[in-house]
Amino acid sequence: MVRTTETSTEKAAERSADCLFCKIVAGEISADMVAESESAVAFKDINPKAPVHVLVVPRKHHADVSALAGASPEALADVVALADQVASDLADGQYRLICNVGPKAGQTVFHAHAHVLAGTQLTGF
Ligand code: C5P
Repeated sequence: MVRTTETSTEKAAERSADCLFCKIVAGEISADMVAESESAVAFKDINPKAPVHVLVVPRKHHADVSALAGASPEALADVVALADQVASDLADGQYRLICNVGPKAGQTVFHAHAHVLAGTQLTGF
């Protein structure tokens, strides 16, 4: 498959106004970046729940992982692959991956993301 390079106009159209994570992806709000791939970025959570707590975020805006899975399974796979890389780079490769979908699950930022928790013995859910 031949992949084409998107124009900045196309990327801008896939942002959501006033989305915090879109602004982090665009570099308009600072974050402690730890890794990136073609379709996702990874940065440290500002309120860490484990020694390693990183958020992996697709560059394009989708409200949650459910929407991302429906629109772009490849981008979701890339999120998981980047999470796996982060867990190996910053911890021992053992990790918990959490995706909150909807307020009942505790989602507070409505741009798809995966929490990577690692670096300690994790208990419970
Ligand atoms: O899954 P949920 O939507 O609750 O996760 C959002 C996460 O984004 C929180 O863990 C919060 O600490 C993090 N966050 C961040 N940087 C911000 C705002 C929120 O890392 N500027």
